[in-house]
Amino acid sequence: MRSCPYCGAPLTFERMEKIYTCSGCGAALSLQDIVELRERARAEKEKTFKEKRRHEEYLEWWLSSKK
Ligand SMILES: [Zn+2]
Repeated sequence: MRSCPYCGAPLTFERMEKIYTCSGCGAALSLQDIVELRERARAEKEKTFKEKRRHEEYLEWWLSSKK
């Protein structure tokens, strides 16, 4: 079963309208919307991770240079 990219609740497929609706937040999404949102969320997560990593590296460098 697919889960909502917004809240993670399971999505229900509306056969008549060919869209997915979320029981959690009430979002109505096409399959393309879901794919795009998931891709965007993944890219966002990666970016956050890289920034965090860079900060940690900087911190390590800063701490080691203070010895
Ligand atoms: Zn939702």
